[in-house]
Amino acid sequence: MGRACRLQNFIDIAFGTSAGGLIILELFAKQSSLTSCSDTFSKFAARTFSEPSKGTAAVASSIRSWVRLLLNDGLYSDNAIDSSLREDFGTLERLFDFRTNATSLPKIAVTATTTGNGSTILLSNYNEFWTSAPPGAKRAATTYRHVRPKDPEDEPLLWKAARATSAAPPCVSPASLSRASQTDGSRFFSAASVTNLVAYQDGGLGNPNPTDIAIEEAARMWRSEVPNDVILSLGTGFLPPAMTPKSSSFRESLRNGAAMRVWRWSKSRLQNVLDAEEIHRHLLGCLDPQSQAGYYRLNLELPDTLPRLDDAQCMDDLRTRVNKSRDEKLLTNIKLSLAASSFFVELDDPPKYGHGGHYICQGTIRVRGAFLQTCALLRGIDHGPVEFLKDGEELAKIHLEEGICLNCRRFNLPVKFLVRHLEQEKVTISIRLENNLVSCISSFPQSMDWFTLQQSRSGRLLADAEC
Ligand SMILES: [Zn+2]
Repeated sequence: MGRACRLQNFIDIAFGTSAGGLIILELFAKQSSLTSCSDTFSKFAARTFSEPSKGTAAVASSIRSWVRLLLNDGLYSDNAIDSSLREDFGTLERLFDFRTNATSLPKIAVTATTTGNGSTILLSNYNEFWTSAPPGAKRAATTYRHVRPKDPEDEPLLWKAARATSAAPPCVSPASLSRASQTDGSRFFSAASVTNLVAYQDGGLGNPNPTDIAIEEAARMWRSEVPNDVILSLGTGFLPPAMTPKSSSFRESLRNGAAMRVWRWSKSRLQNVLDAEEIHRHLLGCLDPQSQAGYYRLNLELPDTLPRLDDAQCMDDLRTRVNKSRDEKLLTNIKLSLAASSFFVELDDPPKYGHGGHYICQGTIRVRGAFLQTCALLRGIDHGPVEFLKDGEELAKIHLEEGICLNCRRFNLPVKFLVRHLEQEKVTISIRLENNLVSCISSFPQSMDWFTLQQSRSGRLLADAEC
């Protein structure tokens, strides 16, 4: 992103699960920098998962591990994990808290699964859509449910949410979010000891790639009317197709007994369920063309084997591999898409029918979020002026700083263009840099009727005093 830019400035909703859940909480709930997040993650892994034992000590260590697994439901010490998380996320901070040092946080959620039936739950910093839905609205079926306590005292603590989303068996024991276990703060209830409490474990067991859930939630938040400008999906490594286990031949299947076939079927099903790449491929096929254009997936192909969940020693190696496999062109496109999505058009008035059979559209291009961050992100790609285009034709060309209004100190670029149809015609407004890279600004391609509708709903078509 560049030193002057924070990824958080360009994100509206952020979802994660398991290790991804920890990273989402670190980046968006704690508002840590990417560097700080990376350091914290390494420290957490090193502190939680001690170095694998070697030689004769391995036997004793292995026995101890299995005893610990039987007694505590996890191979690693609950105390070490809990104290690391409490130290990092604080003991009192809750996921739903309002942060006084931030104007508006993105909507964030981490997923976990219930130990009972393995269903997926969301722990979020926002109320689910249905709490404010119009009376009589029919609740849609989803593959997940929100955990939203009625009593504010029961709101999940931040470190507990982190614990729940990353409680991967058999390394880490499940987590309870009950008030008793929250205020106790000393340990979690193991699944074995849970009777009337719900215990949660790693969200990756239910859905290892929550991108589809994030898209579903975004569609509810914005009534399916607002397109997704950019969808950035990050994976945690995958094997090339040649390395994925192949199914056995029909004859071989018959030779094996029923138990072996059931075992192989179960293993295959589990691999499918845990295959984040498969979800990515399926999702990409389901997206509409506009969303596909802004969809990016970053994942690291590993040559032979995926690292063990508790292998804290592999972090440096993974970092080196990530740096070596950098696709600069793809990263530039992502940066440009994120920066372009900060620009949006606001109509000053409803379009007016003019001579020549065209509607005259008069509006203003504005920037949401921190303007300087958007400038810095674009400058990291190209230093020249930025051209605004309407269907490929120039609308304006300026150095962004020249678009700052002297009254309100915000970016404010008046534009005027013609359209033939307000409803059927989809207009594309985009930015073009000096190096000829082009990207649509927020919500485009779009009809002018759509803008009129959205702005009339929010009362922004009243020629208000804002310059
Ligand atoms: Zn102004």
